[in-house]
Amino acid sequence: MRIAENIVILDDDYQFLNLIRSVSEKSGFRVQTYDNPREFLSHEFGLDDLIILDLSMPEIDGIEVLRELSKHHNVSKIVLSSGQDKGVVKAAEDLAKAMHLNHVGTFSKPIKISEYKAFLNESEHLNTVGEIPDSSIEKATIVSEEDICKAIYTEQFIPFYQPQYSLATGKLYGFEVLARWMHPDHGLVPPNDFIPIAEQHNLINGITDIILSKSLTDLTFLKNHFNSTITLSINISALSLNDPCFPEKMEGFCLNHQIEPKDVILEITESALMREVTTSLEILARLRMKGFGLSIDDFGTGYSSLSLLHKIPFTELKIDRSFVQDMFRDSDCHAIVETCIVLAKKLNMTVVAEGVETQDVFNALSDLECEHCQGYYLGKPASLEQTLCEVGENRE
Ligand code: C2E
Ligand code: CA
Ligand code: CA
Repeated sequence: MRIAENIVILDDDYQFLNLIRSVSEKSGFRVQTYDNPREFLSHEFGLDDLIILDLSMPEIDGIEVLRELSKHHNVSKIVLSSGQDKGVVKAAEDLAKAMHLNHVGTFSKPIKISEYKAFLNESEHLNTVGEIPDSSIEKATIVSEEDICKAIYTEQFIPFYQPQYSLATGKLYGFEVLARWMHPDHGLVPPNDFIPIAEQHNLINGITDIILSKSLTDLTFLKNHFNSTITLSINISALSLNDPCFPEKMEGFCLNHQIEPKDVILEITESALMREVTTSLEILARLRMKGFGLSIDDFGTGYSSLSLLHKIPFTELKIDRSFVQDMFRDSDCHAIVETCIVLAKKLNMTVVAEGVETQDVFNALSDLECEHCQGYYLGKPASLEQTLCEVGENRE
């Protein structure tokens, strides 16, 4: 028997509502969310309902809601959720019992998605939640300008997250944001199938805005779930660096999401930079002055001169994965990786090796005293839910 058919949530935190809705719906439950206690109390509750109730809301507190539910002889199962201390929660639990309400559990906030899933599935092994395997990505989907316009309008782009670890400590320090298109007919479309077309038709800003807004919203979750120092690395098209208002726009996004610019690293590919170099210089300098981190991506592929590194205030150098992957097969690649690490250190830049697929490469990078790394060996890009469930704060 399933714990319930319907989940009814009352919470004033819309991010929490969205997350619980998404996880619950993927587990096959019908979900109704409320952020207003009056509207919530006018819901017609039944035996098949599971209520998730926030104990602290600005307008009316959870204890009052419990009292109202008890007055109406509510028979639904009730889960309490609270960010408050244990004493307050224990008092609410005792009260629910005294009121003969069917209290079945309590979650402390920030809620652990794995625990929530386990709770939902306690009475039955349901399908796993939020996992969109990479194999579901279709190869080379043909997309048109019109398709992209529609997808921007309906916000079909979502951020995936790939974990980044410190090599010295094995600790998770951040995530790279990688765009995916949840296409209604083609499934999950990878960025190489739509970013170049979007850039060609001047639509890239629409996608960037969606990815920025969604990922900065998610960053609060990631910080709560992992630790408050988590950073996000976001890929920015060099075309955006032609827009003189881009630094202010970035600053506005951060303000709206209460994120500090120092927690956001903007990745710009080396080859694209070479094309747009004159206009980008000023924009990059202003972004840096506002506190954003700046990363030169796919380093080694763009034939940039060393003076570019000197002119642009980059804070991070990302060694292209083609060199990292071939470190053991090709001595030139090994030399390039080694040189990039030394160069970044001399220029006071953080160095990240991407495309780490094996333990051997991981160990070799560690011996070369590379600072950070990411790659399939440490974790593939994944949805927010999957990231919250599966990524470890330390490399095991
Ligand atoms: P990138 O910035 O170089 O991102 C790294 C790519 O390498 C990602 O491909 C990632 O999934 C893949 N990868 C990571 N670790 C490994 C590994 O160990 N082995 C292998 N073989 N691959 C690995 P993805 O997600 O398909 O992205 C492709 C490119 O699309 C990105 O390359 C980036 O340039 C661009 N892109 C992604 N999201 C955005 C975005 O929001 N805006 C812009 N402008 N470009 C984006
Ligand atoms: Ca990148
Ligand atoms: Ca890269």
